[in-house]
Amino acid sequence: MADYKVPMRDMQFVMNEMLDYPAHYQSLPGCEEATADVVDAIIEESAKFCENVLAPINQSGDQEGCTWSESGVTTPKGFKEAYQQYVDAGWPSMTSDVNYGGQGLPASLGSILSEMKGSANWSWGMYPGLSHGAINTIEAHGTPEQKEAYLHKMIAGTWTGTMCLTESHCGTDLGMLRTKAELNADGSYAISGTKIFISAGEHDMAENIIHIVLARLPDAPKGTKGISLFIVPKMNIGADGEIADRNGVSCGSIEHKMGIHANATCVMNFDGAKGFLIGEPNKGLNAMFTFMNTARLGTAIQGLAHAEVGFQKSLEYSRDRLQMRSLSGIKNPEGPADPIIVHPDVRRMLLTQKAFAEGGRMMIYFGSQLVDTMQCAADESERKAADDLLSFYTPIAKAFLTETGYESANLGLQCFGGHGFIAEWGLEQNVRDCRISMLYEGTTGIQALDLLGRKVLGSGGELLKGYTKLVHKFCQANDGDEAMKSFIEPLIAMNKELGELTMHVGGKAMENADEVGAASVDYLMYSGYAMLAYFWARAVKTSQEAIAAGTTEEAFYKAKISTAKFYFERILPRTGTHVAALKSGSENLMELDEAAFAF
Ligand SMILES: Cc1cc2nc3c(=O)[nH]c(=O)nc-3n(C[C@H](O)[C@H](O)[C@H](O)COP(=O)(O)OP(=O)(O)OC[C@H]3O[C@@H](n4cnc5c(N)ncnc54)[C@H](O)[C@@H]3O)c2cc1C
Repeated sequence: MADYKVPMRDMQFVMNEMLDYPAHYQSLPGCEEATADVVDAIIEESAKFCENVLAPINQSGDQEGCTWSESGVTTPKGFKEAYQQYVDAGWPSMTSDVNYGGQGLPASLGSILSEMKGSANWSWGMYPGLSHGAINTIEAHGTPEQKEAYLHKMIAGTWTGTMCLTESHCGTDLGMLRTKAELNADGSYAISGTKIFISAGEHDMAENIIHIVLARLPDAPKGTKGISLFIVPKMNIGADGEIADRNGVSCGSIEHKMGIHANATCVMNFDGAKGFLIGEPNKGLNAMFTFMNTARLGTAIQGLAHAEVGFQKSLEYSRDRLQMRSLSGIKNPEGPADPIIVHPDVRRMLLTQKAFAEGGRMMIYFGSQLVDTMQCAADESERKAADDLLSFYTPIAKAFLTETGYESANLGLQCFGGHGFIAEWGLEQNVRDCRISMLYEGTTGIQALDLLGRKVLGSGGELLKGYTKLVHKFCQANDGDEAMKSFIEPLIAMNKELGELTMHVGGKAMENADEVGAASVDYLMYSGYAMLAYFWARAVKTSQEAIAAGTTEEAFYKAKISTAKFYFERILPRTGTHVAALKSGSENLMELDEAAFAF
């Protein structure tokens, strides 16, 4: 069974036909070099690397895992060599600043490549993935000297990066963090404390690791308003810009965990390590949001990446595996039984995965376009509109696509029956590797609070409007189109309902703040299903147009329309459950006394 095949045709459909990436790139200053030819060539080369280099070391990497010793962390066989190949080919610099050796290509291209790397080998992809977030943070908040000192090597991939937020007593609640930063005579800071769960905190793939660390200055206010951000290199850097001596930061151990075994999850000890302030004192959390937003979109891609893997593997298996006869008559008379794909329930599992994987791709590629627009549009109001929509979109993409990614990974395993539970096929690894996506970068619960509390209610509903207007515009444009009716009507209804649900929770929250927390996950999931419906409706429109124009690929486009129909009729009704749960309010969650949970 093939490890992973890049879904090239589907990617092209979303990029070129649905979202018109070629025109998008040509409309943005600085993105014009991403012509269709350049983009095709990049995607093809990346696909070869992912299929031929990364995918073959995915399972072995999981089985071998990382190993820790006093001298550092060793990544599984082949990881280091794959990374060197990646660096030699210039991949790390693709979307970074040209002033520091980057190629300056649009951020969205990076997302497309992340999906491929993620499906091929999520654990491996995390090493350059975290670097990318560290680079973005220094690009956005570093001084010119800091950029000069770190970015060239990081962008080239010679050095990698991490994000160090979490401590043993604080994950979600970063206001409690204790790591200290004390001013040194030379203007640098001595960083002391212990961070846990630091992905790629230590490894053997690059000569230096640049940690982006949250710490507290001695006179800092309590809580999140007293957190500052620092650059802390593993190896100090000399005046010549090259590696000098070892800094006071070391990896104390690595975690033994459920999945992503090949990515080192490190306890990092900072013992008076030399660090450099990035941005303003006590404003570190704001600066860190640059990193976290990149990482949240990256984690949303993880959901898609695992959904795609589960779908590919289970589809192939369902076509081959012969079990029982079709209830509606024998479909494989030459064989002893029919392939399991004839059974309606297997089709339910396959179509659910297909709807989430292909729909997730539409959602991710759309969000990535927003990032391009936010970064590059000439017009300030256009940048602001993209930023606002992205604020609303990001928690939904992160939480909804990881929840549905995990459901898909599980369904992929289920299609294999008992064989799915056996390591050899790779389905159980896909489930295990996917599970973390709903936890790190803010759990589903935290994304939901961010969406409903901070973004939607916090903006007095303003941030919701950008999205509902988008849907409204599409519905209006297709008003009266009979062939679109069964897709447009539910979209109109959900757009209205989303506004009503927001008002409903907003009203109740005025009397009881717990109403927001009680409603938030249902609100987020409702929004996710509704948003995915919008993209599937757009896919239908694009497909209908292609068919009307006499395409030679009618089967491809008809499959899109069938999948959309499946999604609208079988998955979208889940929104009804979320509405009922949301409207039931907080009492059913809060009335049980804490002591009465168990006797
Ligand atoms: C494999 C792995 C890799 C990681 N990589 C990194 C990394 O590179 N860098 C880094 O800094 N961190 C990293 N993390 C840490 C990760 O981001 C945190 O685990 C995550 O933010 C959750 O924090 P926590 O584990 O302390 O859970 P807690 O914050 O203790 O949360 C426990 C539960 O309570 C819920 N909860 C908490 N507060 C609220 C609230 N106000 N309302 C509702 N529910 C709430 C949460 O949703 C969760 O279900 C990693 C973790 C793992 C396991």
